[in-house]
Amino acid sequence: MPKINFKKKNIKKDGQMKDNGKRKRRFARLRGMRDVLPDEYKYWNLVLCKAAKLAETYSFNRIDIPVLEQMDLYERSSGKTSDIVTKEMFSFVDKSGDRIALRPEATPGMVRSYIEHGMFNLPQPVKLFLLGPLFRHEKPQSGRYRQHNQFDLEIFGESNPAADAQLILIAYNFFRELQIEVQIQINSIGCEECREEYCRQLVEFYKERGKRAKLCNDCKKRLAKNPLRLLDCKEAPCIELKEEAPQIVDSLCDNCRNHFIKVLEYLDELDVAYNLDPHLVRGLDYYNKTVFEIFPLNSEDQGRQISLGGGGRYDGLVEQMGGRPTPACGFGIGIERAVSQVKEKNIPIKENNKADIFLAQLGEQARQKAMVLFEELRRAGFQIREAFTKDSLRSQLEIANRMGVKFSLILGQKEIMDKTILIRDMESGIQEVVDCKKLILEIEKRLNNGK
Ligand SMILES: [Zn+2]
Ligand SMILES: [Zn+2]
Repeated sequence: MPKINFKKKNIKKDGQMKDNGKRKRRFARLRGMRDVLPDEYKYWNLVLCKAAKLAETYSFNRIDIPVLEQMDLYERSSGKTSDIVTKEMFSFVDKSGDRIALRPEATPGMVRSYIEHGMFNLPQPVKLFLLGPLFRHEKPQSGRYRQHNQFDLEIFGESNPAADAQLILIAYNFFRELQIEVQIQINSIGCEECREEYCRQLVEFYKERGKRAKLCNDCKKRLAKNPLRLLDCKEAPCIELKEEAPQIVDSLCDNCRNHFIKVLEYLDELDVAYNLDPHLVRGLDYYNKTVFEIFPLNSEDQGRQISLGGGGRYDGLVEQMGGRPTPACGFGIGIERAVSQVKEKNIPIKENNKADIFLAQLGEQARQKAMVLFEELRRAGFQIREAFTKDSLRSQLEIANRMGVKFSLILGQKEIMDKTILIRDMESGIQEVVDCKKLILEIEKRLNNGK
């Protein structure tokens, strides 16, 4: 153990540690990180179950990939100049000198996995979903967490616009069925060919008199490197300028235009409400054609809205990452944000882990017997609870009450001698002595009566 001078270095102003070092330093969560406590987990369960259920219905298979990947993976996919890579990635050099990153988004790892496991040999499309954490070193205010979870879906090996529409439909259903009203913003950013012409128009537009000077410093650089990114800037002057900017839909080639129209037709047919956002680009290099984003409807702070999720098509990425040419599309939804919307709406959540029976014991010998009996009843399929570390019967019955069980079984010294057990109706308080041999029958009788 290294010697630490507690007096000089480790004294916190909030008095977490006494100056003589007698009280141990307490730890706190890292900035921007959070604990999901049991009270909140019922909301998580609701959201996670909805995600998994929907994914299954539309034939997505669950996959898990590592949280750590080579840093290059993100530089080559998300783009070296993207905000994610330049500002937000948690990255480090490990003990063997490798450059490592905690995944800031799911798609690059999914693409790596698709290629590495030869999934192009499977019948296409390959539909995968992931539920897991992402890490971004963002400013922690305004509901952004540096570790947050995502529901991520990807479709590999499918160029049909029906795939784009299905992803948007799933995202839409996900929120609607959680009773969260959302707005889908959608755009097409075309392919490499039509985008080249558009970027030329964009640069021309921003170079017009006076406009360049108004741009933020980042955007001045973007203008030379990646003009499409200008449309994604969150700075007020840049947002204002972009209102007048040319729209990419006017530059789409026939192929891209037809694809986009098809996607919109499917959405119309399915009654999925969407808004065309002619300047939506998403801040990543790999997208082409359809891009979309989801926002809460009527959210208080319009303008600085927090996106609930989004995605798009990335037909060139698999090849760019060393795989075969593979059209693909995907999306991600932030679980924390979905959970916070569900909490805000006060959506009633039914408790599905409610127990029917509580098993109480009195005396050391009874405790031992009760522990065995508990296992028997649990294996027989009953929803049963206990508090075997408690000695007093009263406190056990209080716990049983709080759990809302229908009745309690009470086992004491006398009952063991007589090979009986007490059944106490928790509502009426009436107790009945029952022969141990008939216990299961008696329990079933009472449970069925309640129905
Ligand atoms: Zn095109
Ligand atoms: Zn800007």
